[in-house]
Amino acid sequence: MQETDSIQNESYDVIVIGGGPGGSTTAALIAERGHRVLLLERDQSPQFKIGESLMPATYWTFQRLGVIDKLKDSHFPKKYSVQFYSSSGKASAPFYFYRNDPHESSMTWQVLRSEFDQMLLDNAQEKGAEVQRGVSVHEVLFDGDKAVGVRGRCADGRIGEFMGKVVVDSTGQSALISRRLRLNTTEQKLKKASIFTHFEGGIRDEGIDEGATLILHTESKDSWFWSIPLPYDRVSVGVVGDLDYLLQDRRKSDGTLSHQEIFDEELAKCPALQPRLTDAKQLFPVKVTKDFSYRANRVAGDGWVLVGDAFGFLDPVYSSGLFLALKSGEMAADTINQALEKEDFSAEQLGRFGPDFVAGMEAIRKLVYAFYTKDFSFGRFLQRFPDCQQGIVDILSGNVYRTDVTGIFGPMAEMCSLPEDMRL
Ligand SMILES: Cc1cc2nc3c(=O)[nH]c(=O)nc-3n(C[C@H](O)[C@H](O)[C@H](O)COP(=O)(O)OP(=O)(O)OC[C@H]3O[C@@H](n4cnc5c(N)ncnc54)[C@H](O)[C@@H]3O)c2cc1C
Repeated sequence: MQETDSIQNESYDVIVIGGGPGGSTTAALIAERGHRVLLLERDQSPQFKIGESLMPATYWTFQRLGVIDKLKDSHFPKKYSVQFYSSSGKASAPFYFYRNDPHESSMTWQVLRSEFDQMLLDNAQEKGAEVQRGVSVHEVLFDGDKAVGVRGRCADGRIGEFMGKVVVDSTGQSALISRRLRLNTTEQKLKKASIFTHFEGGIRDEGIDEGATLILHTESKDSWFWSIPLPYDRVSVGVVGDLDYLLQDRRKSDGTLSHQEIFDEELAKCPALQPRLTDAKQLFPVKVTKDFSYRANRVAGDGWVLVGDAFGFLDPVYSSGLFLALKSGEMAADTINQALEKEDFSAEQLGRFGPDFVAGMEAIRKLVYAFYTKDFSFGRFLQRFPDCQQGIVDILSGNVYRTDVTGIFGPMAEMCSLPEDMRL
């Protein structure tokens, strides 16, 4: 066969593009209803990905997926809390999720994405989805405004066409459909960049704090680091800052700083993190990503749905990306199952989950804006409004779909400027 030969495949109920957590969740929950689901993943084998810390509220999607026992049996470190360090290196009291809700859902995991994503992909397959790895989708096929299938390069080099009643775009930041239809709005106030890597052998806290996510400000508060404990004695470490500050305005006398030099410079300004890594070994050259905060202006159209990062992403700070990818996968699957029952694949039917999904995302977004307000501090806020403690821990836990957390934003607006709601 020549590379250019094309193959026309049979037709499916649903075609899911992308086998990340969002795509695998959607595929599993539709396939288990007996519908014909094809999931196409570009990578031939599991790859390194950033985004390793879960929010506790992922528990409820994992429960529906039937993977709680697999996670309990895994070697992923258990995460009971998140802890913030100020620019002077002072630690806040950890925010323990179980203090808010003493249920097993108040503990979660820090995951190696190659293993975690594969576990969810296997689960989708076990529930009946057909999974093809090594298929890179180039194009969503439209009949007028209605999505009817996809075209892509298959593992054997041939071009394949796959037809379906619904096309789910869960391609992560590739965001195939929203880029093509120009649906994306970037968050102008969140134009950030990040530089990250893994270390082996860093110092960890002990006992219940061993698996905690640490969020550590640098001295100037121009950037912050995450520290996420992983299996194999690894720790994921990354720095986030304004794009201009972190990447564009960095010079030294004899030219531009390398990404590694910038990372090292920022680490030197992070008094609470540096000592934890003194004897640790960096495992691979730093990686860089930028301009990752955006959102599409709709979740669905005729015959298509957006899930996870393919719809939007807020910011790394509260580890909400995986939670929102899983949650939107779950909500999209419910709407698509309904659509298949009714044989109604209109934008209106497929987009039903959008307003509820975005309302939860909006609560996290507001807290992201508070975090980036330089003179705002959660400590001072809670001193003044102690009744808001519950609402803050609810948002940090991801309890934005089960609980009304909006009560904290009135008081918070007295201490920092919060954004207007972004609506669909
Ligand atoms: C710096 C940074 C740090 C982060 N840290 C965290 C964190 O600690 N916790 C957290 O919860 N989130 C974090 N995130 C966000 C998290 O990584 C994402 O929100 C999450 O991976 C989204 O899942 P997804 O399934 O939507 O997309 P992805 O995980 O990106 O999966 C998309 C899949 O689609 C495949 N694909 C792409 N294009 C095609 C194509 N054309 N054809 C076929 N397949 C395709 C890809 O190979 C990939 O497997 C972070 C993000 C950034 C930028």
